[in-house]
Amino acid sequence: MMRRRMSRPISIGDVTVGGGTPVVVQSMAKTDTRNTRATIDQIRRLEECGCQLVRVAVPDGEAAEAIPAIKRGIAIPLVADIHFDYRLALLALEGGVDGLRLNPGNIQDPEQIKEVVLAAKERNIPIRIGVNAGSLPILHKAAKHEHTIVDRMVSAALEEIHLLESLDFELIKVSLKAFDVPDTVAANRALAERMPYPIHLGITEAGTPRRGVIRSAVGIGILLHQGIGDTIRVSLSGDPCEEVFAGYEILKSLDLSQRGPTLISCPSCGRTEVDIIALANAVEERLVKIEKPIKVAVMGCVVNGPGEAREADVGIACGKGKGVIFRKGKQVRTVEEIDFLTALMAEVERV
Ligand code: SF4
Repeated sequence: MMRRRMSRPISIGDVTVGGGTPVVVQSMAKTDTRNTRATIDQIRRLEECGCQLVRVAVPDGEAAEAIPAIKRGIAIPLVADIHFDYRLALLALEGGVDGLRLNPGNIQDPEQIKEVVLAAKERNIPIRIGVNAGSLPILHKAAKHEHTIVDRMVSAALEEIHLLESLDFELIKVSLKAFDVPDTVAANRALAERMPYPIHLGITEAGTPRRGVIRSAVGIGILLHQGIGDTIRVSLSGDPCEEVFAGYEILKSLDLSQRGPTLISCPSCGRTEVDIIALANAVEERLVKIEKPIKVAVMGCVVNGPGEAREADVGIACGKGKGVIFRKGKQVRTVEEIDFLTALMAEVERV
């Protein structure tokens, strides 16, 4: 069992982040926040795929004014992403957001931050200090060369944490994100030892689903395995539901979540005598709608097939034109290739 870092828990709406509670999977709406209908629709879709917290960009007053309507239309807690203009954070708070994300790199006036913090404190609303390698607070030229990017990310977070603590505000969550995985890992490790607050993990601008999922899984996975991280977001140039799906797959790979099915499928090889790749993909598609935590194995031959199929909740070990189906370790039936998918899914329903 990996030991998780024990952070100080905070509540964002009805979701607890930190304090050893299960890692929370979040995403961000990709719609224009001012388009209330589209934003609500996308967040509802995110809710259906298991997203637990959602962030929306608040680039202007009109977006901030859309917050009350968005809040009314959705069920999960809503976080407002604020850059440059502290007044948008004040408007978002008035609009009823459940959390704020502030970037220390682009709201640097302590008086402005103070105003936001006091308004958040009054409403018991947490603030994420979201440091990004691409938008660090400006340093004078000499200092820029003296410090590594990792040092600068950690210092930016610690300075902001100290400012919030000086205002007697501790509903804090912190994120340090970079595109570079080693930098992200090093920065989060250094930060985790130096402050007690929950950590939000992510690899920023990770790319298209094909590349971004891998980069995120490596970065987020390393840190989670070291016990660091209370909430995660996989940032992809793609459908936000893909971010949520990838988030849960990362957690399931580390036994940190039981949500939904786990598919074990063999890669197929020269021994395979059926189209195992097509079958695995068809099963994956069918499993999308299933929420119960169930392990399903789709295997191509007798080498590892019966073993894996028996270990899973439901499994199939295929041979020449036939497949043996297992449920909860017991062989339940043998089916013809044409019936593989329907027979396997029927057993999934029975578990
Ligand atoms: S389970 Fe069998 S068919 Fe699948 S990859 Fe292994 S040896 Fe090949």
